[in-house]
Amino acid sequence: MKEALLYEKIDNKIVICHVCEHHCKIKHNHVGICGVRKNIEGTLYALNYPLSVASSIDPIEKKPIYHFLPHTSTYSFATEGCNLDCSWCQNHDIAKSPIKTRKIRGIELTPSEHIKKALAYHCPSISYTYTEPTIFLEYALETMKLAHQNKLKNIWVSNGFMSRETLELIIPYLDAINVDYKVHNDEEYQKYTNGLGSIVLRNMKTIKDAHIHLEVTCLIIPGVNDREEALMKMLQDLFDYLGEDQVIHLSRFFGAYKMKNYLPTPKETMYLARDLARDIGFKQIHLGNM
Ligand code: SF4
Repeated sequence: MKEALLYEKIDNKIVICHVCEHHCKIKHNHVGICGVRKNIEGTLYALNYPLSVASSIDPIEKKPIYHFLPHTSTYSFATEGCNLDCSWCQNHDIAKSPIKTRKIRGIELTPSEHIKKALAYHCPSISYTYTEPTIFLEYALETMKLAHQNKLKNIWVSNGFMSRETLELIIPYLDAINVDYKVHNDEEYQKYTNGLGSIVLRNMKTIKDAHIHLEVTCLIIPGVNDREEALMKMLQDLFDYLGEDQVIHLSRFFGAYKMKNYLPTPKETMYLARDLARDIGFKQIHLGNM
């Protein structure tokens, strides 16, 4: 473990973590919502440093990123934990797995060992993915700095719920990012994910204004965001914040986690979402999981 970035000490050994927009207030011997940041005697520690719970070589299109280093492989890794709790999470076995009664899982791999692996496998980029890179900020940031020194690009696959302070730290080293945008208003966002869509929109705009390559994924989920009105609102939000040149991935849902008994999104709904996106004015729309 390692002392965490971006936290403040307040009275009685209580700390506030400012890595994501939950800004968890954490008492001694407790962890934040993500389950991987623990207050020990008034010092906040990242318990997941440097514990890689998954690493792999993936096609960059799997992220999905289609318009940055196309047809290349990307060295990818993650730690346990996530700051959101999306009912449909495909990676809940590692994202929602931290529990107080055991240590954070993972293989010890230092940032420089990840770089060596990426170079050995001739990957031009490193992806911080599978779970939410925001919650392994210390591990990701060190790796990102080393990646740039070794002429490798950095790609995040994120829920976009990081704080402004975290964005400021990563933007100088971030080359591309895919952000999920999940439902069309904060109330629904809170209900299904424990996050806020308005924050995600704000962060995507900041990323775009910083000229970082951004692609957005909307998972189309039956009963959650698949009605025409909900789809329209969600896509219109994105258009208003990000404009017509924004690359959009519309991804088909398959049952998982709290929604594992749900049927896949009908293909007709996917085509409807694509047509709505086109009518709103998006120029680059990709359908996924079809
Ligand atoms: S990263 Fe977010 S969820 Fe985790 S402790 Fe910090 S504020 Fe809380």
